[in-house]
Amino acid sequence: MHRDPHWIDGKPVPPANGQWLDVFDPATRKVASQVADGDARDVDAAVQAAQAAFPAWSSLPNSVRARWMERLADALEARNDEFARAEAIDAGKPFALARDIEIPRAVSNLRFFAHAATQFASESHHGEAGLNYTLRLPLGVVGCISPWNLPLYLFTWKIAPALAAGNTVVAKPSEVTPCTATMLAALAAEIGFPAGVLNVVNGLGPSVGESIVQHPGTKAISFTGSSAVGRRIASITGPMLKKTSLELGGKNATLVFADSDWRKHLDTLVRSSFQNSGQICLCGSRLLVERSIHDEFREAFVERVQALRIGDPLHAGAQFGPLVSRAQFDKVLACIERARDEGGRVLCGGKAIDRPGWFIAPTVIEGLGPECTTNREEIFGPVVTLQAFDSDEDALALANASDYGLSATLFTNDLSRAHRLAAGLRVGMVWINTWLMRDLRTPFGGSGASGLGREGGLEAMRFFTEAKNVGLSIK
Ligand code: NAD
Repeated sequence: MHRDPHWIDGKPVPPANGQWLDVFDPATRKVASQVADGDARDVDAAVQAAQAAFPAWSSLPNSVRARWMERLADALEARNDEFARAEAIDAGKPFALARDIEIPRAVSNLRFFAHAATQFASESHHGEAGLNYTLRLPLGVVGCISPWNLPLYLFTWKIAPALAAGNTVVAKPSEVTPCTATMLAALAAEIGFPAGVLNVVNGLGPSVGESIVQHPGTKAISFTGSSAVGRRIASITGPMLKKTSLELGGKNATLVFADSDWRKHLDTLVRSSFQNSGQICLCGSRLLVERSIHDEFREAFVERVQALRIGDPLHAGAQFGPLVSRAQFDKVLACIERARDEGGRVLCGGKAIDRPGWFIAPTVIEGLGPECTTNREEIFGPVVTLQAFDSDEDALALANASDYGLSATLFTNDLSRAHRLAAGLRVGMVWINTWLMRDLRTPFGGSGASGLGREGGLEAMRFFTEAKNVGLSIK
């Protein structure tokens, strides 16, 4: 059976405790591989390797660091399909989604931040008092912890800016989907990437994740995952005064106005609800529809949802695969039951699909108000609710009736309404007449229970550096 070890100091390293975890193929529920079940000793070894590599990596000319990252991007691009296949098996996501979007985006993350290494500039302030200029220095060893839903995409979204800014990294992918991050570390070693710069320690959150967070040698923590774990991490890094970035859960609203070309956008609306089986933090799980089109919309939307091609992720044409794990499968089924108990009417789906894997049919529920737990708590699966609204104020109040504040999407052709609502929505990102339109320069992240801080572009480069201001007299 294939085993994913740690990658420390440019070498594969088995767990110090000799323990391994099973990794399942969600489409078959069978064990597909094993991953190191690491602990604090492995994290300590990785931090030491990263500390040893820091002086040389951080003092490389920016263009040379950028070149290394470009080489890694080239090597990944050359193996795109191999990585996509591994991700499809590990995460149960349609192969085409991994091949055409997620692995190419991991390549783009590496390339984008390779360019950032050479383009990143710092401020200077020339004034009456003299001249101030700001140095933006790498922090040292940083910890990057990522989730299972977009395994390589979100892993590279963290390690790329960290490396570009001159830090060395101890990273932990999710134990549920460790394969492609481990393959990337192996690929880095294969192309001769400087040893100790990118270390991957595999294992569980409470053991490996928390050891990275607690280790005095890690100078910052960049975390993407659930709000519950984000709070736990903040409770550790807060007293340590350790720099922390938290990208957490969402309960995003999608607003559909009668004046929009909503029929034209139906494919986008289905994608924004159910891409990756709804396991994307940016998926809209609360569909808010203007009452005058509500019934017509409901019929057309449900019909389109029912036409989704559900299938084995490795089969060409599959648009919708299983949930990632037994835990997710059980949780989502329990959420659907709770929605029924709360008085929700299931318009389609609402049950497991009779296949070997952890499949749940795409589910649309109506009849639940903003106070229901179903509309308040993140489900992170193929479940959306439908609510009707009567006015802009009504729509805004419904959209903002959430402790989360990650993203919102609105469909309208009324320019003034679009800008007014975009300003009023309590979220970090708004899309108008589109969804998940990515530009890697823009600030990425949310407010409230959705997290602290922003990733992307300059925000990420600033997070992974320490500003040091130097003032001098010019008199
Ligand atoms: P999770 O919080 O359970 O785990 C995320 C990562 O943290 C994993 O690597 C896990 O092993 C690790 N971890 C768990 N406990 C830890 C601890 N005590 N200390 C340190 N690390 C620990 O989340 P998940 O189930 O893997 O991912 C789904 C969640 O991620 C959803 O809530 C989703 O909304 C969120 N998410 C957010 C974004 C975003 O950009 N805001 C993107 C993707 C996913």
